[in-house]
Amino acid sequence: MGVDMISVSEAKSLILQAVMPGPPENLAAAAALHRVLAESLLAPLDLPGFDNSAMDGYALKSCETVGADPKTPARFRVHVEIPAGGVIHKPLLPGEAARVYTGAMIPPGSDAVVIQEAVQRTGDELRVSMEVPVNSNIRRRGEEIRQGERALDRGSPLNAAALGWLASLGIREVTVHAKPTVGILVTGSELVAPGRPLEPGQIYESNSPALTASLREIFLEPSFVKIVPDGKGAIGAALAEGLERCDFLLMTGGVSVGDYDFVKEMAHEAGVQEVFWKVRQKPGKPLFFGKTVEDKFVFGLPGNPASVLVCFYEYVRPALLKAMGNPRVFLPALKLPLEADLQLKGGKAEFLRGELVTSESGWCIRINRQQGSHILKTFATSHILVFFPEATTSVKAGDEVEAHLLPHVCGGGIYES
Ligand code: AMP
Ligand code: MG
Repeated sequence: MGVDMISVSEAKSLILQAVMPGPPENLAAAAALHRVLAESLLAPLDLPGFDNSAMDGYALKSCETVGADPKTPARFRVHVEIPAGGVIHKPLLPGEAARVYTGAMIPPGSDAVVIQEAVQRTGDELRVSMEVPVNSNIRRRGEEIRQGERALDRGSPLNAAALGWLASLGIREVTVHAKPTVGILVTGSELVAPGRPLEPGQIYESNSPALTASLREIFLEPSFVKIVPDGKGAIGAALAEGLERCDFLLMTGGVSVGDYDFVKEMAHEAGVQEVFWKVRQKPGKPLFFGKTVEDKFVFGLPGNPASVLVCFYEYVRPALLKAMGNPRVFLPALKLPLEADLQLKGGKAEFLRGELVTSESGWCIRINRQQGSHILKTFATSHILVFFPEATTSVKAGDEVEAHLLPHVCGGGIYES
């Protein structure tokens, strides 16, 4: 273990210290799904804008139902009907009730709505056989929010409900953080894009498809994808182009200590300053993170496909979510018991792929048998990355461990931890 290696938590905090939320930009609310507010939004009006009925029924004065029961019902006359969208200025007179529908304005002087299922109506006569408490089934003006109050805080992700909420306030434009541009630069002379025949010694390239998809899980699209062989010239040229075109460049392969591992050297030549290289973890030990003076960021991810995805979910994704303005960036962590005993080597933190399974005592974690960093098969069916801190060597069945929920467990999308 090299003295220069840092811990998982040091690596995470160095990344989050370096990456800042993108600049503000104005967008139509309709185009802002999954963006994050760069400014708090104040309510431009009261909501509800007027006292209205929560049910189909009759608006009346509560005090006129005091003592009402099935034997001695309170009696009202109904002369007015107010549908949703109707307007009423005339106050209720004593002994009057108004027919109202859900969302309709209630007449001045009324202070309760009795639901239509609880009354008998004959012509314009209404009988109410129970006491109707003040404020029953009434939504008061401003009870959800008052004009000038904060509707959404800065840092709020704009999900479907948030966009509906803003629309209900009449808000059509929002100030959000700009999205980062992201590029993918895959290195390796053995790699062939699917669709072409494999020559001996070649393998299909799977990192750029996996990274493209994992970017889409957070609603980003790579603006640059390139596959280059292991050679200083090719890597240097592609790196320069990627840095020119992107705020974040995700490189894979060639970041270790082999004779063909040129990524770190070429990144340095392209003006990328190392923030860290190598983390005391498995998989993903050779992870590199650097930045340029223009605040462009380079992740040097390992080549092995499972390591790439572990590093993406644990490090790259939080960086990108922070750049998008999200205040919470990590996969949600659950404490859950292990299904079976587990031995680890210790010395390095480990991220093991696992599944959530049910047992007699509830959810527990089954660690996948195949954990090789070249093995994607079991990653595809995993629900969680289970984090074991550096010192862990032996864990017993039933011991609680830290599980990081993968996005696809709930069908993709941004998680708030
Ligand atoms: P490297 O980090 O370049 O030494 O690569 C480690 C391992 O990952 C090697 O077995 C590579 O063939 C494999 N590998 C690297 N890049 C990719 C890729 N884009 N797709 C699939 N396998 C890869
Ligand atoms: Mg390689």
